[in-house]
Amino acid sequence: MDRVKAKKHLGQHFLKDENIAKDIADTLTLQGYGTVLEIGPGMGVLTKYLLEKPVETWVIEIDKESVEYLSAHYLKLNGRILSEDFLKYDLRKSFGEEQLAIAGNFPYNISTQIVFRVLEVRHRIPEFAGMFQKEVAERICEKKGSKTYGILSVLVQAFYDAEYLFTVPEHVFDPPPKVKSGVLRLRRKENFNLPCDEKLFFTVVKTAFNQRRKTLRNSLKTFNLSDNLKEDSIFDLRPEQLSTEDFIALTQKIAANGV
Ligand code: SAH
Repeated sequence: MDRVKAKKHLGQHFLKDENIAKDIADTLTLQGYGTVLEIGPGMGVLTKYLLEKPVETWVIEIDKESVEYLSAHYLKLNGRILSEDFLKYDLRKSFGEEQLAIAGNFPYNISTQIVFRVLEVRHRIPEFAGMFQKEVAERICEKKGSKTYGILSVLVQAFYDAEYLFTVPEHVFDPPPKVKSGVLRLRRKENFNLPCDEKLFFTVVKTAFNQRRKTLRNSLKTFNLSDNLKEDSIFDLRPEQLSTEDFIALTQKIAANGV
């Protein structure tokens, strides 16, 4: 048997439609990096089109059977297949301090973890493009004021310009997932060092959205805000009313207040 049978616990939904695979590879701008790392190549439907690009393509795949399949069928990948868990792999081992793009039809069972991992290593990732379940892709790209705007949207958009590109139906996958998929592209901002304490920024955003129906005055009580600071009208708002820039300004105010 030549093909790999899908394993549900690894989030395996193999793409059957070659045109869509090509369209995903074409979302890469190829600006600012010489290497692309594909997460979860499976049987290489997307890899094939990445290998046609004028960049060096690497893949990282947790499933041994897929790794064997790729080694046998994609000789051009020779030496560039990492048989590893992306969430645990130290990218410095293969890439030193090199700038990389990340691409993929990602394993949906760990979507959020992939995004958080990318944020941790953002200094080396100028571009991130690929497919998630539609709802997650939309949430990442969402602007303030919408119900689905949340932690992922604010944290990603602090460092990246996020674009939702197109929707992909269930039936082009084997096995088909229960939901539609969405392709997005993130381009790192020119200046991706925030003008505030970044750790505090993450904590403020997460704390505010953990009680998203409350005003910031209530949800951020644990920060021991001074009475003077609490007067500020920003605390009348709920988290979904704040843009990334507003959250940065809020973090600066909280830092000045002394945490
Ligand atoms: N890109 C292929 C497969 C997508 S399915 C296609 O479009 O057909 C998602 C793939 O991610 C699977 O091959 C799965 O084995 C792999 N995967 C799941 N968790 C992973 C992890 N933590 N690190 C690397 N790959 C992972």
